[in-house]
Amino acid sequence: MEEPHLFFSHFDTENGSLIISTILQEILPCSMSERSMALQVILKYSKRNLPIMKVVFSPRCLEFREPGHPESPERVKHAHKLLVQKRYEFTEPSPCTEEDLLRVHTRELMESVQENSFFNFDCPNIPHIYDYARLSAGGALLALDLSISDEGSFSLMRPPGHHASRSRLGGFCYFNNIAIAVAKALETCEKVAVIDFDCHHGNGTQAIFMGNERVLYVSWHQVPLYPGTGHESKSNCLNYPMRPGTDHEAFMRLFERGLEEVETFNPDLIAVSAGFDGYIGDPLSMLRFEKRTYLEIGEKIKSFDIPRFAVLEGGYGVELPECILEFLQGFF
Ligand SMILES: [Zn+2]
Repeated sequence: MEEPHLFFSHFDTENGSLIISTILQEILPCSMSERSMALQVILKYSKRNLPIMKVVFSPRCLEFREPGHPESPERVKHAHKLLVQKRYEFTEPSPCTEEDLLRVHTRELMESVQENSFFNFDCPNIPHIYDYARLSAGGALLALDLSISDEGSFSLMRPPGHHASRSRLGGFCYFNNIAIAVAKALETCEKVAVIDFDCHHGNGTQAIFMGNERVLYVSWHQVPLYPGTGHESKSNCLNYPMRPGTDHEAFMRLFERGLEEVETFNPDLIAVSAGFDGYIGDPLSMLRFEKRTYLEIGEKIKSFDIPRFAVLEGGYGVELPECILEFLQGFF
């Protein structure tokens, strides 16, 4: 059979979904075997050569800032620019609904953010922060939806989420993005593992899922450091505290131990709180992770070969974009 040249020519354009519909129209007059071959080519290219809609991003998440605050729009803006250069493709989220929020948060917390009636030293009370926080949580939900493709997805959104508990915001987090997505996933999945490699303990995520046998929460974080929790494992929440100065090799050994627990748990889905503030140049920790650390983290999670998605948590150094890129090269 001849090579289906006409199909290849369409892969140079920008919009993956348009390409596929165009090809399907063109192959309709073909024989059954030609159609089958063409569909295999489409699948091959859409899986390996076109990272279609794997990164979730909205430029609206760059609209808010608090002068001098480390959780700045620039951190995500520069990461987005690098991923565009590397030809990643993006899809925009919608804000999550009240119902999504109330799966993990109290109505009181939701309304205090909605009405800008909260006070927290780390979480600036910015106009419309309710909308921005709902959009970031919507990013996690869209990443969850995309994870069904079995190739991984990543939400490059802010504000982060893993310090927000059921009833309290904190640590730059208003709503717990990863917990909102995991709570939704539990409507269809039996068991979900949450892997959190931010240098800070995800106290909010732990508090939300503590005692839930369908969730395994595993965190590696610096101690002592904000928020002062995560010194020991308890129930379904496994904590691997690390001393300041912990380097790539020492971390990878601990990471392997945690992943063995994930394997034993045998989840249907892996949700990742991807924080990059353990990087050696990050101003908020004294860990000594390297760029290859993030590549290896991504590869090891990918090797479970089950649906997976990640959401951005922390990461405040100038090399955050490259750290994210390394992670995605392993994770996708
Ligand atoms: Zn952090």
